[in-house]
Amino acid sequence: MSQQFDLVVIGGGPGGYEAAIRAAQLGFKVACIEKRIHKGKPSLGGTCLNVGCIPSKALLDSSHRYEDTVHHLDDHGITTGEVKFDLAKLLDRKDKIVNQLTMGIDGLLKGNGIEWLKGTGKLLAGKKVEFVSHEGETQILEPKYVILASGSVPVNIPVAPVDQDIIVDSTGALEFQEVPKRLGDGAESSQVALSDQVVNSALRYRTQAPLIDSLMNELGIQGGDINGLTQSLKPQSKAQ
Ligand SMILES: Cc1cc2nc3c(=O)[nH]c(=O)nc-3n(C[C@H](O)[C@H](O)[C@H](O)COP(=O)(O)OP(=O)(O)OC[C@H]3O[C@@H](n4cnc5c(N)ncnc54)[C@H](O)[C@@H]3O)c2cc1C
Repeated sequence: MSQQFDLVVIGGGPGGYEAAIRAAQLGFKVACIEKRIHKGKPSLGGTCLNVGCIPSKALLDSSHRYEDTVHHLDDHGITTGEVKFDLAKLLDRKDKIVNQLTMGIDGLLKGNGIEWLKGTGKLLAGKKVEFVSHEGETQILEPKYVILASGSVPVNIPVAPVDQDIIVDSTGALEFQEVPKRLGDGAESSQVALSDQVVNSALRYRTQAPLIDSLMNELGIQGGDINGLTQSLKPQSKAQ
């Protein structure tokens, strides 16, 4: 079955859903193809809403509140009792925020008459788009226009693949089930959170792993230059 769309957007992240919504507001009949499954269910919003900006800032917000309570309230003459830290609850709050916002994007697409095609899109010759649903059904779409907004994924370094144990990427860092003993210089346990600070710390953590020599050889970096390694890794990661 072939459906008629003026525009097909491949990718439902901030790039894709914004473009889809604007095009629909301008009168186009739009479909947005998004393949992401997050925590067991199809999810819009891309890296940013699912495993990027939003969850990292949710955790950072919690960690700032904890840090303020433990270290800074006293400066204001406010005395508290014992302050406890419940990481499971903090992660649960983060997941609820992500869920609320990704559902919000679903609502925005619906509200603008955009069809969310849940599955994978592939650009074919002649501006055709092959859509394979999560259930395995294939459709060939022939829109007038196609926007590719498929984002990016981290590069796996062959000698040091991300195992989400010793070597974590930012997605793994957002799911730590306990506060790591060490993430890097200056990272206090109250900053468990895992946003940019944790990502940076995780980067430093990598550089201290035993794989350092082979990693440096792989990247062509000489003389134990940690800064060089950090710089080479940065462009290959997603923009923070
Ligand atoms: C930890 C972290 C924190 C961040 N914090 C910030 C921040 O504070 N501020 C900021 O501005 N940016 C931040 N970013 C960066 C931000 O997340 C990205 O810049 C943004 O998500 C890019 O949007 P995008 O739409 O281009 O791509 P993405 O968000 O990656 O979306 C692309 C979507 O396309 C889908 N897709 C790919 N291929 C196909 C296909 N063939 N078929 C169907 N679907 C497909 C993917 O599943 C994905 O959901 C952060 C990123 C990370 C990892």
